[in-house]
Amino acid sequence: MTNTVFPAQPTPLVDIVGSDEKFPVNRIYCVGLNYADHVVEFGEDPDKVDPVFFMKPGDAVVANGVDVPYPQHTENFHYEIELVIAIGKEAYNVSVEDAEDYVFGYAVGNDLTRRDMQLALKDKGMPWDPSKGFDMSAPITEIHPVEEVGHINEGRIWLSVNGDVKQDGNINQMIAKNAQIISKLSELYVLKPGDLIYTGTPSGIGPVVPGDVMDGGIDGLDTLTTKIV
Ligand code: MN
Repeated sequence: MTNTVFPAQPTPLVDIVGSDEKFPVNRIYCVGLNYADHVVEFGEDPDKVDPVFFMKPGDAVVANGVDVPYPQHTENFHYEIELVIAIGKEAYNVSVEDAEDYVFGYAVGNDLTRRDMQLALKDKGMPWDPSKGFDMSAPITEIHPVEEVGHINEGRIWLSVNGDVKQDGNINQMIAKNAQIISKLSELYVLKPGDLIYTGTPSGIGPVVPGDVMDGGIDGLDTLTTKIV
């Protein structure tokens, strides 16, 4: 047993539907610009951009129903409802055909974003990190294991703010499909059990302010509820 100079931070955990066991979060990968109608509203041409990858720290996860404080250094704080893939096996250089074998399950996530900061950094050609990978930036529901819910490649994905529907799309509109995302990521990184992949958001992104309540869901999964305080 190696002594550490101070106690290591606890491993972030996500609940699993129908189990007392938790999903221990390793890394959080995210896909940007993965729905054509969202690429258009983001001011880009869907025929000329490829989905982009970025990361959030694993301890950015926020459980369903937990309030999120409005962060500093933004005046345009946005929601992005997304399908989340939970990885269950180490994956390195896996083919598109085999990629779904590495999925443990699926959840609903919200890729919270300091949009004004992101756009300013994007315009300068600078990294997005502090606009995306901040504390409490990754609300997520319980994970549904594949054995229970199957593989999710279609189904309604939606988000409302204070009951008004803002995002309403379908998982089948994703440009890079789940298997393509996993295969490509496994070439860039060694995926580990415990990794989460936020797979991108449909159109309808917009701001929230303190007091707003976001509800978002995907057919077959849970409703993710997050209040901004
Ligand atoms: Mn996103």
